[in-house]
Amino acid sequence: MSATEELQKVAHEVSVCTLCTLHHSRKLAVPGEGPANADIIFIGEGPGFHENEQGRPFVGAAGKFLDELLAKINLKRSDVFIGNVVKCRPPGNRDPLPDELGSCSGYLERQITAINPKVIVTLGRFSLAHFVPNAKIGEIHGQAMRIKGRLVVAMYHPAAGLHQRSLMGTIEQDFRLLPELISKAGPTPEQPEPVSVEKNEPKQLSLF
Ligand code: SF4
Repeated sequence: MSATEELQKVAHEVSVCTLCTLHHSRKLAVPGEGPANADIIFIGEGPGFHENEQGRPFVGAAGKFLDELLAKINLKRSDVFIGNVVKCRPPGNRDPLPDELGSCSGYLERQITAINPKVIVTLGRFSLAHFVPNAKIGEIHGQAMRIKGRLVVAMYHPAAGLHQRSLMGTIEQDFRLLPELISKAGPTPEQPEPVSVEKNEPKQLSLF
């Protein structure tokens, strides 16, 4: 099965998924979108109001800011894959619960395996926790880590910059590191392994 076919299969399964209770309150699931050969995957937390209405990731104010950040490093939304750790909107935009994150993580891992990107950018603490449990985003944002052969870069969620304007400069600075990180990323794993919370321990990490 090609990467494109696998992404389409994941998107279909997500659209009818009932693995966790979030399916009760969703209008549209948001599997994520972008090319199957993207060099970068951006992973946010979960759909918000507008994403739930449209079935697309990052289409609200945070999405507009993400587009601006991408433009500053000469990237377009259509160049990258954008998804979330949970594919259905938590009611009232509450934090996703551990069982919801656990139920949904398999879809994200399949997307990562299919795309086999050079760089994974985590946006916010829930996305970071998928790869590095218990890490503090305030301490490791802008840093690159090797996890199972993949380059993972932790960044603040764009929404954090909208809520706390003093973070905007930091987020922009972290984004400006991406072109160099991509150029230095090296080969992706030949036989990509899904990255899962259970499989990763902090001791396995090394700063890039
Ligand atoms: S959040 Fe994920 S696991 Fe839960 S119903 Fe939606 S697609 Fe399924």
